[in-house]
Amino acid sequence: MTADTGMEFPEMYEHLQKVDEYLHRERGLHITTLKHPKGFEWLMFEQPKIKASSLAKRERLGLPPYGNGWPGIKVRWCCGQLKVHLVEQELKRLAQGRKFVQYIGIAADEARRCKADKGKRYPLVDWGIDEAQALQICYDRGFDFGGLYQIYHRASCFCCPFQRIEELRQLRLHHPLLWDRLLDMDKRAREQFGANPWGQFKQHWSVAELAERFAAEEQGEKYVRCKCH
Ligand code: SF4
Repeated sequence: MTADTGMEFPEMYEHLQKVDEYLHRERGLHITTLKHPKGFEWLMFEQPKIKASSLAKRERLGLPPYGNGWPGIKVRWCCGQLKVHLVEQELKRLAQGRKFVQYIGIAADEARRCKADKGKRYPLVDWGIDEAQALQICYDRGFDFGGLYQIYHRASCFCCPFQRIEELRQLRLHHPLLWDRLLDMDKRAREQFGANPWGQFKQHWSVAELAERFAAEEQGEKYVRCKCH
């Protein structure tokens, strides 16, 4: 089972398709893909706020009564609404009151993310397989993720504000269409929410500023931040 935020790299969708075909050929199984009916951008820009306390807070801060803005450290709404909630809902539906075991693919070097819960198992942690080993096992079986991991350290949502600056530098170079889409999301967020955690992509950087910085670096120039962003 996987939860699709709708913002993965095209290569990742192709990879999932390949895994699905493999699973079906070898085991007669298909991957179940869960997806929010309205998606990432609707949640970011349009989801209406209903709770009175939330509406009052927004009015006080001069924010519109809709849209969640960029995900932040304190409010990582994307993981919650586009992944965790959907998976929990689906497990509940499948279980129908019965007990079940959930197998989660967290690698051994990320074991700190595991939860002490009898219903959850972490086979990679149990077998001591770390991220690099898991990737090599995939490569050895012909799954190369379309080369994503030769470019990026992590390959989740292309628009993730928690990714490293270096990953964003690579995004601009290797996925210019996704980079343009990110620039557009950034512009919309700043226009809708302003210069605050809702409208700001990273604490110290908008995507537009990063675009200028990367372009300056390419020319061998030092980037000087423009005060008008
Ligand atoms: S990868 Fe980033 S943007 Fe995507 S769901 Fe996770 S935290 Fe949110």
